[in-house]
Amino acid sequence: MTVFDKYALNFKGLSLGAHHFEYAVDDDFFGAFEGSEITRGDVDVQVDLLKQPSMLTLNFEMQGDVEVACDRCLGEFRMPVDYRGTLLVKFADDPPESDGEVLWIHPAESQIDLAQYIYESIVLSLPFQRIHPVDDDGRPTCDPQMLERFRIVTGEEFDQMFPAEAVDAQAQSETQASWESQLAAVKAKMEQEEDEKE
Ligand SMILES: [Zn+2]
Repeated sequence: MTVFDKYALNFKGLSLGAHHFEYAVDDDFFGAFEGSEITRGDVDVQVDLLKQPSMLTLNFEMQGDVEVACDRCLGEFRMPVDYRGTLLVKFADDPPESDGEVLWIHPAESQIDLAQYIYESIVLSLPFQRIHPVDDDGRPTCDPQMLERFRIVTGEEFDQMFPAEAVDAQAQSETQASWESQLAAVKAKMEQEEDEKE
């Protein structure tokens, strides 16, 4: 029994026509994906399944929130998830490679594992840039101590965000340059990994 077992949909015994399934995605789910950029979350997954003789159509609706690291201050915060998508399941004796929209399986299979599709859909639904939202007064909710320690923003930006906490501009621009080159290296690596996945 693994975390993912409950996300396996057994379609073999279903009658032709429409069916509905619900899944709850939680911390255990995200924790089970190795190297996941999301470690916590609560997402409600609704699936409307249409079973036809030659294929299955699954319409997904996913809503909830997940915890991600802020690109600016590295602090964790909750980001809303709102995703709708359709997955077609088709059958072939020699199944071609599946993509994000069509899942090919062997006719002898009786269930589909939805965990990977759910996980990828949630990750892809998040914006590329993840930054703390602003509060009611339009002020960023980033962690000011982290911003100051890493000198992630320029002095001018920092002063605008936290006017009371002026910092030494000289030290700031130096540290920032080194931080930016580190950040660029991380970004390049991530993009490379992203390319390799496709
Ligand atoms: Zn932040």
